[in-house]
Amino acid sequence: MDNNARNLQPLIEALDDVILELTELAVIKQVWAKDKTKLFLPPEFFIGKSIPEVFGEFGNIFIKCIDDLLSTGERQQCVYPDFDKSKHLWYCAKFQKIDSLEEEARIICIIEDITAKKELNDQLEKNSLELKRINDLLEIGHEISKMGGWEYDTIEKELFLTKQIYEINESDEDIVINCNNMTESFDKENKVKLLKALRNTLSENIAFDLELELITAKRNKKWVRISGVPIMKNQKVRIFRGILKDITEIKNNQLELIEAKNLAEQVARKRTETLSIMSHEIRTPLNAIIGISNLLDQATFSNNDIKEYVDHLRYSSNHLLHLINDILDLEKIESKKMELNEIPTNLVSLVNNVYKQFVPFAKTKNLSLNFHHDHQIPKSLLIDDLRISRILNNLIGNAIKFTEKGEVNIILKTIVDQHQQASILFKISDTGIGIPEHLHNLIFDKFHQVNQDSHRQQEGSGLGLNITKGLVRLFDSEIRLTSKPNVGSTFEFKIDFKKCLPLQPEQKIESLEFDFPPLPDFKLLIVDDNATNLLVASRQLYQFGINADKADNAYTAIEYLKKERFDVVLVDLHMPGMDGYQLAKYIQDNYPETKVIIFTADVLEEVRFRLKEMGIQYILSKPFKPEEMFDLFLEVLEVK
Ligand code: ADP
Repeated sequence: MDNNARNLQPLIEALDDVILELTELAVIKQVWAKDKTKLFLPPEFFIGKSIPEVFGEFGNIFIKCIDDLLSTGERQQCVYPDFDKSKHLWYCAKFQKIDSLEEEARIICIIEDITAKKELNDQLEKNSLELKRINDLLEIGHEISKMGGWEYDTIEKELFLTKQIYEINESDEDIVINCNNMTESFDKENKVKLLKALRNTLSENIAFDLELELITAKRNKKWVRISGVPIMKNQKVRIFRGILKDITEIKNNQLELIEAKNLAEQVARKRTETLSIMSHEIRTPLNAIIGISNLLDQATFSNNDIKEYVDHLRYSSNHLLHLINDILDLEKIESKKMELNEIPTNLVSLVNNVYKQFVPFAKTKNLSLNFHHDHQIPKSLLIDDLRISRILNNLIGNAIKFTEKGEVNIILKTIVDQHQQASILFKISDTGIGIPEHLHNLIFDKFHQVNQDSHRQQEGSGLGLNITKGLVRLFDSEIRLTSKPNVGSTFEFKIDFKKCLPLQPEQKIESLEFDFPPLPDFKLLIVDDNATNLLVASRQLYQFGINADKADNAYTAIEYLKKERFDVVLVDLHMPGMDGYQLAKYIQDNYPETKVIIFTADVLEEVRFRLKEMGIQYILSKPFKPEEMFDLFLEVLEVK
């Protein structure tokens, strides 16, 4: 071992790797390897050979390093894989020149196995690349969603914010936002909300999620959503972490939508109110006209002309009433405010009543009007009798209207009769003008009167079938039409009714003729500010044998009540000063024995609801039919 080798010995001992000593011409002078297996040939083989001789083309990488080393004098190094690619090993060769005065310069090449190091490095590089990618994505995500992240250390009192929060806050990144100046971004109300949430999170260890209004550094208002979760350490909240998102756009859209919804609701409410007022305004005089026509009709006239005039008067006003009812029903169906009001009813009697009303009309046209039903139909079903009557009225009315000769048949058929329910088929057929196929859908449209050449236009609003269809739907059913021009039409629908306990023997007076037995004697007070309506009601009651006292306002009514004991008070709802609601309440509080009947032209469900809430169950609608008034008084006086 020469001197040099001896000098290098401790260094070699410290290394696992290979050391080569080379001449400037890249000839190997010495080889040291602690682990000989690291050399692919015995060490002696290398001595005296040049790098290209030993390493072949692979040696070029060493030659370049040696050239660079000689030309610059600077240390050189290169990283290269094992010749044997299957080994997946990596080395680093470092070249250093050692000048000597006595002999030519020597080059020391230290070769180190860096496989493990390189793998670690590669992994690190891969990780940091991935991290960067995730960061970039997060950043873009945050940017697009206008969202930033924040973290607050409760011990260090340190607040960390991502750059997006600075952007949302429109503040310079140089001005650090900390816990003290952060709350400046909120007004008092929002600050309280935020601090409360934070305090709650701190004590309860729960996440929070708030929508707050933020005032940016440039004094602009923004809506933000701020959410946070507590991170625990040693059973204490150590850190809060969360997001802050700019939701101004979403919030503004939401507010706009709410505003639009409120406006739409307001318009709908206004429409209903207007309709209600209109209906009330029209019904009040109608009550007078219809009432007087009814009263006149109950008188005996010597002059036939007068009887005819009265009939016309009654017919026209009833027609007008029908139209108002149609419009109101349509509004209720369209605004989905209509609900079924089912009560135990005898279906056959109900239909029979409707049928009987049309007998005179059919007679005027020489038509045979027939009502057939099977005997299986249960005696008592839960039925919204008003709605079923409306449907039948519309269909039977049309059938007679559009038939010039032949017959109109009303048929009820039991389809299913089960323990708790019965399914009934309703069929109204005629031998009239019929409806061509292409118009079958059209006639159910609102305001649609079909102009049929074969027939002169009949009077009507064109609302009937539209309402009928809506009402049948209310019963979860569909109306079907089969029709042929000049042969006739059939409208049919099937309704499932719930069965109920059998009814008491018929309570209602079925007769439409005005041969009312006198009512039992009782004390009655009528209160109405409209003189004609006061007259109509009192005269009609006079026909029933009742002599009522009259008051044209609530205050006079109270005077009456103080003087005498009344069994029943008939109260108009809309009166100037003290209205019907107040008077009714006064009577309930001071004269609990006295029964109150509300006499109103207001048909809104809301009114019914309010009266029900007050415990008022008797309502007489204006305009009223004599038999309706009679029936109601029988009910109020509990006369069976
Ligand atoms: P209207 O108030 O005009 O009777 P409807 O909605 O009840 O309104 O009916 C719409 C149209 O359908 C009528 O104008 C008529 O042309 C047609 N129509 C309804 N029922 C019959 C029927 N039984 N026979 C022939 N045409 C009918």
